Amino acid sequence: MKLLLRTFLGLSAMFVLVFTMHAQAPAAGKLRIYFIDVEGGQSTLFVTPAGKSLLIDTGWPGNNFRDADRIVAAAKRAGLNRIDSVLITHFHEDHVGGVPQLVQRIPVGTFFVHGPNRELDHGDTEQGYAAFQKVLAQTKAKEIVPKPGDRLPIEGLDATVISSDGKVIQTPWPGAGQPNTYCKQSEIRPPDQTENARSLGVLIRFGDLRILDLGDLTWDKERDLMCPENRLGKVDLLVVSHHGWYESSSPALVEAIHPRVAIMDNGAKKGGSIPTLDTVRKAPGLEALWQLHYSDEGGATHNTPAEYIANLDGPDAGHDIEVTASRDGSFTVHNSRTGADKHYAAGK
Ligand SMILES: [Zn+2]
Repeated sequence: MKLLLRTFLGLSAMFVLVFTMHAQAPAAGKLRIYFIDVEGGQSTLFVTPAGKSLLIDTGWPGNNFRDADRIVAAAKRAGLNRIDSVLITHFHEDHVGGVPQLVQRIPVGTFFVHGPNRELDHGDTEQGYAAFQKVLAQTKAKEIVPKPGDRLPIEGLDATVISSDGKVIQTPWPGAGQPNTYCKQSEIRPPDQTENARSLGVLIRFGDLRILDLGDLTWDKERDLMCPENRLGKVDLLVVSHHGWYESSSPALVEAIHPRVAIMDNGAKKGGSIPTLDTVRKAPGLEALWQLHYSDEGGATHNTPAEYIANLDGPDAGHDIEVTASRDGSFTVHNSRTGADKHYAAGK
């Protein structure tokens, strides 16, 4: 009897082990990225194979915890019960506004910011910044202000600051620095005076995969970064700046970095400008543009095909886009609306 019981317990343990291994297998060793739908704001969650996390931006204030709950739902799917670091690209309300509600739903370790808000003529921005300062004081969360070229201290994630507080890296990335032929066809625009131009932007590397997220960095700063020489080289995955608004995404940036896949965190009526949709879709080497929303402005001609859109025209269900990436540079993009996956082979 004892032997039988022992055999039974042994088999059960084996079953549990096999079952657990199977349940974890799809994501083992992979980087997961969740492009959360915060309706034209930004919120992108990176989760390392070891379960360490970086959230870039937190969506909007108000809306009765809509954005915080969507972020927490993605975090739970990733098996997180805390978010290790939150990077606030800049202090506009569609990026920092969600912080007070987020920290009520899930603990946060460290915040990365570009420095203090200096957009002092805009009530919503000042309010968002004040609410963020209050959270820092109340939660005693750590605040770090990195500079261009710094590597963020995040365990298991290789993220280097490209832009911050209006400055950009001056030294080309190893292997980059070639003359940028797209500068000529990229018009010169006056300096942007808002928080957008101060966006804290990062290049994230996972093995051979390179992911660029510059927040809402503006056209003039793209020129500082990319002309006359291309300081970034090529990237595999581009988080389209500024929700796909025409104030960013100059050819000098988008065409020169040769993105294989671009993901745009636009809303139905925010971002997704026609010139930007066109620039991104014709970027050399682009395999697909994905959008969080169908852009009303883009219409039938300029939007990416429906299968690459998480939320179509009509009632909004807050679908997200999820990326699962391997160190060899290959990755899969999942549309939570359709349930379909598209696989992208490792870059050359
Ligand atoms: Zn924004």
